[in-house]
Formats: sequence, structure tokens, C-alpha cells
Amino acid sequence: MLSIRNLSKTYDNGVHALRDVSLDVPTGMFGLLGPNGAGKSSLMRTLATLQAPDAGSVTLDDFDCLKQKFELRQQLGYLPQEFGVYEDISALAMLKHLAVLKGIANAKERDENVKHLLHMTNLWDVRKRKLATYSGGMRQRFGIAQALLGQPRLVIVDEPTAGLDPEERRRFLNLLSEIGENVVVILSTHIVEDVGEICEHMAIIDEGQVCYTGEPRLAIADLEGHIWEKIIDKDEVSDYEQSMLVISKRLFAGRIKIHVHAESSPGDGFNSVQADLEDAYFTSLRKTTAVC
Ligand code: ADP
Repeated sequence: MLSIRNLSKTYDNGVHALRDVSLDVPTGMFGLLGPNGAGKSSLMRTLATLQAPDAGSVTLDDFDCLKQKFELRQQLGYLPQEFGVYEDISALAMLKHLAVLKGIANAKERDENVKHLLHMTNLWDVRKRKLATYSGGMRQRFGIAQALLGQPRLVIVDEPTAGLDPEERRRFLNLLSEIGENVVVILSTHIVEDVGEICEHMAIIDEGQVCYTGEPRLAIADLEGHIWEKIIDKDEVSDYEQSMLVISKRLFAGRIKIHVHAESSPGDGFNSVQADLEDAYFTSLRKTTAVC
């Protein structure tokens, strides 16, 4: 279990990126959802000990992650948002090199770990190709391979599927969901479907604050009977927004399909619809904005 308590961070430019963030992250896949600028990467970099918070604490089972940085790094696998690799080297050579840096001193153990990860990420057949020739999806799979070196207990992946085509995205999510038991995996993303498909637990963060934490299926169940849909003209949108909690708007055959959160039917022409995770996500964000 990873316990995050009262983390706050203000950058030198005055941006308050994390505001008293507390989360309990159990073993398994945990989704951290939020729009761009919400503070996800700031939180991920803090957990990865790449930047210090102004206040707060983080513990992984028995040790203090912020104070025992070396121990944490031994247990950490991190795939950052901007994942740079040496272009002029093969995946195999790079992974072996990173395995040495990760502290896997025994050569046989290192070779076995590297071989296992190249097979797991489906990169074995292209292991001798230079990383410069890899596609975006192959790079991300390589990114996961390097993150899993040394069997970490905490794995952090930051916006990993942005820019991947649907097939590579699917392959990547399948790969993530295969990561073993007894590992805390945090998937930070603004893509709601990624969390809905593979995460057992999640948190929603906006403007540096946690606005929801729980299970995706319960977040959806809580909304049952409270989501209403109507197709309206574009010029009607602001009227509806003023009089009800419009949680999402989507173009629909030249008109706008709105979803509204309400205890009972908000008026003529609204149909009750089955809630999904996107409704839960937007409801959390809108309610937080309304409170602010
Ligand atoms: P997310 O990952 O959810 O998109 P970030 O953590 O990257 O959010 O950013 C949160 C806020 O902090 C944004 O307003 C961003 O502009 C700001 N920010 C992020 N990194 C820095 C930095 N190094 N210096 C100053 N401001 C930053």
C-alpha cells in the first residue's frame, strides 16, 4: 500500500500544483485521472523522488519514500511522459545497460530479466534494432520493459497511451494489466477509457486537489438514474448551462448532445441514460468547479 498524506507543491512561478493531496493507493492498477494541468505529473514526479514537495509525506508499506530516496528508487519503475532514449543503440543493449544502472549486479540474473521483459513486451524479435527505428507504440513498450527491470514494487506510468494508435493502445493496456501481483501500478492519464478498462481503483484530480477516490464501478453505480440526455441546438447551450448541471457536451449530427446530472428529470425532452465512467469523471470535475 502506498500512502500519500497532505502533499503540497507551489512552483517558483507561483503555480499551486498540489493542494493537500492525500491518497491511499492499494496493490494493483490505480488510475489517476485529471485534465491537462491538473497536477498529475507533479504528483508522479514527487512520488518518483524527482522533485520535493513543500509539505506532506509518502510511505510505501514500511518505508518513508521522501526521506529514503535511494531505497525507493530501488523499488521504483518509472515511465515518464517524455521518455527519451539513446537513439543509436539497440533495445537489447540499452536494456542491459539500464539493468546495470538499476543495480542488478549478477550477469546471469540480468540477462534473464532482460530476456523475460523483451518477450513480455513483444520486442524480442526486434531486440537488435536501433531504438531510433522504433514506432511510438514500440517505444512505449520498451518504456515499460525498462520500468519493470529489477521487479519494482511501485510502477508509475505517466500518460502512456497519448498518441498511440488504437491497436498499439490496446496492446499497451493489455501489457500493463499483466504486471504481476503485489505491485502498486499508478496509471496517470487524461483518457477516461484507459482507467475504465484496466483499473480497479482510481482518483480524480483537478487544480491540484483530489475530487474523487474509489472504484470506477462504484463511481458509475452512484450515478445510476441521475444522468439525463438531450439533443439541443448550439445556441441553446448557455441557457441550459445556467439552469442545470451540464456535465458534458458532444457534437451530434450538427447539433449538441448534452448530459445533465440531476436527481430527477430536468425537463421536457430529457431521456434517462445509463451512466458511464466519463459521466462520473465530468460530474466530479463540474461539482468541484461549482464548489470553487
Ligand atoms: P498534468 O500532468 O495534470 O497536466 P502538471 O503537474 O504538469 O499537470 O502541471 C500542473 C500545473 O503546474 C500546471 O499549471 C503547470 O503549468 C504547472 N507546472 C508544472 N511543472 C511546472 C514547473 N516545473 N514550473 C512551473 N510550473 C509548472
